Amino acid sequence: MMIVAMQDQATEKQVQDVIERMVELGFNVHRTTGSNQTILAGVGTPAHFDVVEFKVLHGVHDAYRISAPYKLAGRSFRPEGTQVAFPNGVVVGGQEVVIMAGPCSVESREQILLSAKLAAAAGAKFLRGGAYKPRSSPYSFQGMGVEGLKLLREVADQTGLLVVTEVMEISQIEPMVPYIDLFQVGARNMQNFNLLRELGHARTPVLMKRGIAATIEEVLLSAEYILSGGNYDLILCERGIRTYETYTRNTMDISAIPVLHKLTHLPVMADPSHGVGIRDLVPPLALAAVAAGADGLLMEMHPDPNKAMSDGAQSLYPEQLTKLVAQLRLLAPVVGRKVA
Ligand code: PEP
Ligand code: MN
Repeated sequence: MMIVAMQDQATEKQVQDVIERMVELGFNVHRTTGSNQTILAGVGTPAHFDVVEFKVLHGVHDAYRISAPYKLAGRSFRPEGTQVAFPNGVVVGGQEVVIMAGPCSVESREQILLSAKLAAAAGAKFLRGGAYKPRSSPYSFQGMGVEGLKLLREVADQTGLLVVTEVMEISQIEPMVPYIDLFQVGARNMQNFNLLRELGHARTPVLMKRGIAATIEEVLLSAEYILSGGNYDLILCERGIRTYETYTRNTMDISAIPVLHKLTHLPVMADPSHGVGIRDLVPPLALAAVAAGADGLLMEMHPDPNKAMSDGAQSLYPEQLTKLVAQLRLLAPVVGRKVA
């Protein structure tokens, strides 16, 4: 659906040209002419149309897109909301808030085993940890690769946790499947459309993070790539965006959580670790995210964060995670939720 407002002095030829273009695209056009202005309402949703194309046509004052450019991700596609179910009865998008915790990277068997034990003891349902790491510098630690995946699976099984870990490229999808429960698409890959399309053909759930400079509409269009391949087990994740503020690593956009819940049926999680980048600021933002309706939290926790190979400064001490989960258990009922 689109509305085109013609300029007061638009000629009949200009009006007809706009109507012709709308009809060509598949719109059913309804014309209203007032004392001096013509309004054209285009009913229908052609697959491909760009409202900007109409804004610049001769005689047009302005054009407005009324319907969202995404369909499968839109709330109206599944008004009741999507629940993503995992083994062990864990559900994301239901009444329970799901905690996913662990180090930024898998570093060694000892480190990830201890992380898993601590995460499980604190109340987490998922163990996180990158085996393939998208690092800003090519000289930084790049992850343990397949060895890291095997360790994640081993220690998660030992501690009754599920595994969430980042997939960076198409060739990693298939080899990862046996080791993981949830693919993480990182902020840097939110617009890697080829990767998203392939994940749409996978049958393993996907957690897609918001890009560092992505608008909410872009998040939902990226989600559309995965959904249109037939993979409906998709969870979105706010993880902070780049703004002019430099005190925090990113600016945690808490408002994106209720906005996304309004616009989409997909579960929405929050990653306050990357959102703020400073350990002591993670708990308040985690609480705020749950208060704002987050369906789960993805957080970095390291048994010895000061020795972490990546993101140590934003990784919680184990006891901080334990304390935070206790606070979340008190807070969640205020917004009609409970911690899984
Ligand atoms: C991560 O989870 O460690 C990570 C790299 O996150 P993001 O893609 O949000 O930067
Ligand atoms: Mn990290």
